[in-house]
Amino acid sequence: MARRRKTSTKKILSTAIALIIIGIAGILGTNEEFVNTISNMDGQTNQQNKQQIEFVAQDNLLIDYIDVGQADSILIRNQDKVMLIDAGTNEAGETVVNYLKNLGIAQIDYVIGTHPHEDHIGGLDDVINNFDIGQVYMPKIQTTTKTFKDVLEAIENKNLTVTAPNKGDKVVLGQATGEFMTDPILDEDNLNLSSLVLRLEFGNNSFLFMGDAEKENEKTINWTKTDVLKVGHHGSSTSTSENFLKQVQPQYAIIMVGKDNTYGLPTEETINRLKNIGSKIYRTDENGTIQLTSDGNTIEIKTSLE
Ligand SMILES: [Zn+2]
Repeated sequence: MARRRKTSTKKILSTAIALIIIGIAGILGTNEEFVNTISNMDGQTNQQNKQQIEFVAQDNLLIDYIDVGQADSILIRNQDKVMLIDAGTNEAGETVVNYLKNLGIAQIDYVIGTHPHEDHIGGLDDVINNFDIGQVYMPKIQTTTKTFKDVLEAIENKNLTVTAPNKGDKVVLGQATGEFMTDPILDEDNLNLSSLVLRLEFGNNSFLFMGDAEKENEKTINWTKTDVLKVGHHGSSTSTSENFLKQVQPQYAIIMVGKDNTYGLPTEETINRLKNIGSKIYRTDENGTIQLTSDGNTIEIKTSLE
């Protein structure tokens, strides 16, 4: 009995071992792809963590006027907070997404679509689909374009809500404070007038983002002196009136404009007005992406082209 039992125990053992070997082989075989996926994911995560650390370490205010051709897209960062004003055309959406991803950005705290024109909100659906989004700001005006519908769909799919800010509404971005300067003029025949205008203060430095606001918007308030002006409406003569410039007195003027654009922008008139007030002009068609760094007292400017 004892022998037979021994034999059967041996048989059971060897069968069990065989089964275990087959099992291991099976796991290795079928799950090879899965294991590879895990190691790839680990690789990505490590890379992202490294970039994230680099990103969080920034105590300065960083503003990137991203070269997206004849369109606007502006990235603003301070501490671990991120704001994006506009996202370029539909075509530029991928450029904007990649630009942010390369900086290790995973979350955008504030997304501002200044007004519903394609050269400002075209890439916004891509941005919303690719990042964790906090607050979305847009003016209270609708259009019937596919571009606009795509943006609304992306917002809905993520269960986000849109805030339409009024004059005096504030946003806090790390150590920087932003204020919406005007009540948008809601005119379906001229969407530029609905542009959200934001002024940002960081220490003793200040920055004004005009979207495509025009002279009609400029007339509505008294402006405070501001170091850096993102020139309204791509340097068109519809915007940047002499009276406005006398009040703002920007040390630097940033014009976001496409190379050899068919609109003839920026106009000579606007360039001359800016030169007369003593502003140093930077343009995305000549300078490429324009990167500003402020420590609260001094502004440094780097450009990707010259
Ligand atoms: Zn525009």
